[in-house]
Amino acid sequence: MKRIGVYPGTFDPITKGHLDIIRRASRVVDHLVILIAPSTKKKPLFSLEKRIELAEIELKSLNISGEAQGFDGLLVEHMRTIGANVILRGLRAISDYEYELQIASMNRCLAPEIETIFLMASEGSHFISSSLVKEIASFKGDVGHLVSDNVEKELKACFAA
Ligand code: ADP
Repeated sequence: MKRIGVYPGTFDPITKGHLDIIRRASRVVDHLVILIAPSTKKKPLFSLEKRIELAEIELKSLNISGEAQGFDGLLVEHMRTIGANVILRGLRAISDYEYELQIASMNRCLAPEIETIFLMASEGSHFISSSLVKEIASFKGDVGHLVSDNVEKELKACFAA
């Protein structure tokens, strides 16, 4: 059976922390779908279309069997429609744990056939978050070690002026 995994999130924008999880997730599943939520409540900097485009570019450059899709709705229902059976999430600090445990338990309650797999953040990227990246970029700080060249270029364009 082909194992299709989803990596859901906001990805505003995709960082090297996300890329580390994507690279490692690709060893666990045969095909990885990055599912990007509009997350309008979080008032994202990048449009959903742009976030999808940026994720697609990263997948291509990592040479991973995968795709990026926008999605709005119940995660497990969407997974059933695309035949996915594994949710991948990254865990950084203890602060991620409580929220992730709640969501994973709820998803198991809704869809017992779907498994959530957590990958611990790597030593070199556990401190990276999209929100910090945006904050640094807004002050014209260097984010070259936190995001890909392409994302860095997009951030510069957003905060030019
Ligand atoms: P969300 O809005 O769901 O938190 P994010 O795009 O911020 O979306 O994160 C998506 C997933 O990636 C989450 O599981 C998050 O814990 C994980 N993640 C984000 N940054 C890192 C990182 N630096 N290292 C490992 N996992 C990360």
